[in-house]
Amino acid sequence: MKKLLIILVIVSSICFGCKKTSNISESESDDSLSSRVSQYANTITAKELKEMLFTYASDEFQGRKTGEPGQKKAVSFIKEHYVTNHIPSPITENDYFQEIPVSYFEGKADSDSENVIAYIKGSEKPEEVVIITAHLDHIGIKDGEINNGADDDGSGTVALMEIAEAFKAAKEAGHVSKRSIVFLHVTGEELGLFGSRYYADEDPIFPLENTIANLNIDMIGRVDKRHENKPNYLYLIGSDWLSLELHQLSETVNDSTVKLDLDYFYNGERDPNMFYYRSDHYNFAKHDIPSIFYFNGLHDDYHKPTDTPEKINYSFLETRAKLIFYTAWELANRKNRVQLD
Ligand SMILES: [Zn+2]
Repeated sequence: MKKLLIILVIVSSICFGCKKTSNISESESDDSLSSRVSQYANTITAKELKEMLFTYASDEFQGRKTGEPGQKKAVSFIKEHYVTNHIPSPITENDYFQEIPVSYFEGKADSDSENVIAYIKGSEKPEEVVIITAHLDHIGIKDGEINNGADDDGSGTVALMEIAEAFKAAKEAGHVSKRSIVFLHVTGEELGLFGSRYYADEDPIFPLENTIANLNIDMIGRVDKRHENKPNYLYLIGSDWLSLELHQLSETVNDSTVKLDLDYFYNGERDPNMFYYRSDHYNFAKHDIPSIFYFNGLHDDYHKPTDTPEKINYSFLETRAKLIFYTAWELANRKNRVQLD
């Protein structure tokens, strides 16, 4: 990790070369296959994201504080989505909750809490899994005001639900991905990444050695000050920390599909914000699982009652969610799993 700055220079030179020659993948080079994959991606729509987020980040959910009644409403809402879409749980039939006892939260929560998990089993290598994460909790009510957390992380939560629907649409069209895809909504993030830590350290439902990558979505619905005049962007953090192959795959997928301006401003080891350590992918990365953290940067409404759903740019949210779907699709369908460096 200490050589990160040198690695970054090498990566950028490699990728200028690879952009021109790579197709979306060795398995997806056929045009008709690619167009089918974009049909699945096109089930991710700004309209559905908006409808879900106006509920998920409404006052009814009381800021979704870990262990509180609003967070319980949040997990019911997420579970209902998977039940309605016939996307099963890997725990037992109809039990989508990975229970975490209150004692695990080191005094920071007053009640038990739960992660929500669903999956689509792969066709050829079902034991190998790609895990996509978003945290379901937020910071609750402070000084009598509800913190709705529309961007943090309502945006990632509804994006993950839509990505799951896209994989389900593929399955219904007879196009099950080779590897399994796991949709993991984690609790306790705002208290200190507890839900993802519980999953990775205490109870990995899928063995970590066969967990080939983690894509973590935390705040992807807004535009920060650095991009006010160039908003077609997304920050990626961690993509090249463990696997250059993951980084190159991610770049190639973006170039072949949505063509966002991928910004690595916060990716350096010396980033004073330490974002690499501040969201749930870290609990996978520390186990040597190649990970990408997708992030729109901070804004004035971060962790304030003003982080509300009408401030989300739903068209950007749609495009960013599509990028993550395409990247997950490629990870789940390429011939070989991405290699650690
Ligand atoms: Zn967050």
